[in-house]
Amino acid sequence: MDHDLAALLDDLLSATTREEAPSADSLLAVLATDDDDLLDVVAAAARVRRRWFGRRVKLAYLVNLKSGLCPEDCTYCSQRLGSAAEILRYTWLRAPEALGAARAGIDAGASRVCLVASGRGPTERDVTRVCGVVARIVEEHPGVEVCACLGLLSDGQAERLRDAGAHAYNHNLNASEDAYPEICTTHDHADRVATVRRVQGAGLSACSGLIAGAGETPEQLVDVLLELRALDPDSAPVNFLVPFEGTPLAGRHELTPQRCLRILAAARFALPRAELRLGAGRELHLRALQPLALHVASSLFLGDYLTAEGQDAAADLAMIADAGLEVEEVPGPAGRTASSRVVPRRRGAGTDVAPNA
Ligand code: SF4
Repeated sequence: MDHDLAALLDDLLSATTREEAPSADSLLAVLATDDDDLLDVVAAAARVRRRWFGRRVKLAYLVNLKSGLCPEDCTYCSQRLGSAAEILRYTWLRAPEALGAARAGIDAGASRVCLVASGRGPTERDVTRVCGVVARIVEEHPGVEVCACLGLLSDGQAERLRDAGAHAYNHNLNASEDAYPEICTTHDHADRVATVRRVQGAGLSACSGLIAGAGETPEQLVDVLLELRALDPDSAPVNFLVPFEGTPLAGRHELTPQRCLRILAAARFALPRAELRLGAGRELHLRALQPLALHVASSLFLGDYLTAEGQDAAADLAMIADAGLEVEEVPGPAGRTASSRVVPRRRGAGTDVAPNA
């Protein structure tokens, strides 16, 4: 390892030990490292990961309660206004179907269930509906964390979800304040920050992350990482663009597996204590380097994503075991151990086909 790289990684490791924010320049330097230096960068980020998370990997399972038909226009999203992507489109799942999907994920090893609905934000009736599902999951599966992801929240809605038993709420920043107008015109970055703050104010665990590969500059990527650090979420999904045909970013493939690892390492240095979750697009962009990414991230979404299929859940579990890592168990009575083609989801919630779990 050359002297400059060693000094950079030492500085970043010292900053995490002192719980100080890394400088934007140092994160930019991580993103600019050569492929020849990749394993040194990953090894340094892996030290931070091991310090806070040991060898555990948390499995989260997505249940798409309402798919497509969104009035918002986020460019990267297959569910956006006017999307011609060949995704499943359905309105709210009925409670038994949502519960069945959640059960499948939990039975496969997930210790967190993420109840997601497309849209700008929930109505009070929507919150009532989701609260009912949250309460049933918590009752049936003590120890399993339920996270809701329903868009921008209004006054009192986070409290209602908390009182129903939700543990967390996800609302990704996705992009930096500077980049935001390029990816969405129907709401702004401040709206997203306000919802994350609302969630924290209600005492829910905040989950907020980003999407990479959507045309952002390295500077914008570093900005969103530091904006996330300022928000201090407990968990942070790192999504990699899934460039669906029928969306404005169709055909965009600007990520390599090596770049994804550098992005994850920068995220780990910026958010040393956050549960970094490998999100959508990991199979597409990390490909055979996914196991290496698990030494930087500490969590992944098991099985399928909201609108795209993931690799088989069994392959996820085998990958974790082969990497020498361990699936985090659900505490309490419910506890137990547990290519480059975009494939639209055609199984699980909203279909008659068995879920990938
Ligand atoms: S990211 Fe959310 S708000 Fe934006 S278009 Fe997709 S579902 Fe709608």
